Amino acid sequence: MKLATIVHGDARRVAVIEDGHPTALLAERYTSVDDVVRAAAEGASPLENLHRDDIPAGRLLAPIPRPRRNVFCVGKNYYEHAHEFSSSGFDSSAASGAVPDAPIIFSKVPESVIGPGDDIVFDPAVSAAIDYEAELAVIIGRQGRGITRERALDHVWGYTIVNDVTARDVQQRLKQWHVGKSFDTFCPMGPWAVTADEVDLSDTRVRAWINDELRQDANTRDLIFDVPAIIETISAGVTLYPGDVIATGTPAGVGIGFRPPRYLVAGDRIRMEISALGTLENSVRNAG
Ligand code: MG
Repeated sequence: MKLATIVHGDARRVAVIEDGHPTALLAERYTSVDDVVRAAAEGASPLENLHRDDIPAGRLLAPIPRPRRNVFCVGKNYYEHAHEFSSSGFDSSAASGAVPDAPIIFSKVPESVIGPGDDIVFDPAVSAAIDYEAELAVIIGRQGRGITRERALDHVWGYTIVNDVTARDVQQRLKQWHVGKSFDTFCPMGPWAVTADEVDLSDTRVRAWINDELRQDANTRDLIFDVPAIIETISAGVTLYPGDVIATGTPAGVGIGFRPPRYLVAGDRIRMEISALGTLENSVRNAG
């Protein structure tokens, strides 16, 4: 099942998506997909009694427009991308080798999330090296700590697409990744959330186009650390909660991988597509 957070007038609702369109609404008390995920975790049945009449042609928001906690992210998690990033000169973690021996975990602030069609906005005076990263993102459905990789998928509610937008120059200068990946508007998410039963992690294609030029094209089977390993690593000491989001890392083909780098500029259109998850599109513009 696909669930979207939509806005219609002043009301925010959760809609069931079929063939790309909202076909039913959940009860009014659910105002985002993470509301639904948390309610289900507490034993409610939010998918009962759907309203199928008068479905508004609402604007899509990010399925989880304001996560309760930072979005967890994994760095350098595809082999080819690990090599392109380490050899770019922008990787402050390169001294430990191109391919990490444990998942590199960082996070983005919740306020960086924007929805499908929203603009990625940046000030060229703050960063002159904005990059895109198409990623499969996990939505946690069941609370847990010390989750083993064998049980990890029992804790997954579903998936969505995240664009882990990055200010490469800031990422390099500050020697850590949090700030340069947390700028306002730097976490496009969507177009909706898809339950885990519809996603085959052993064969999920991840692609990104910039102005219709295919830049990233990979498969989640090529992840260095797969979803169960990532969940095991984070949850070893950090409790994961329903509604938490984990972006699993980006494949090769980001702007920094080109010689010279091909950063985003105002007017660029970004399209990201992941099997079974849909298409996430955003444009880039300068602040002011
Ligand atoms: Mg990333």
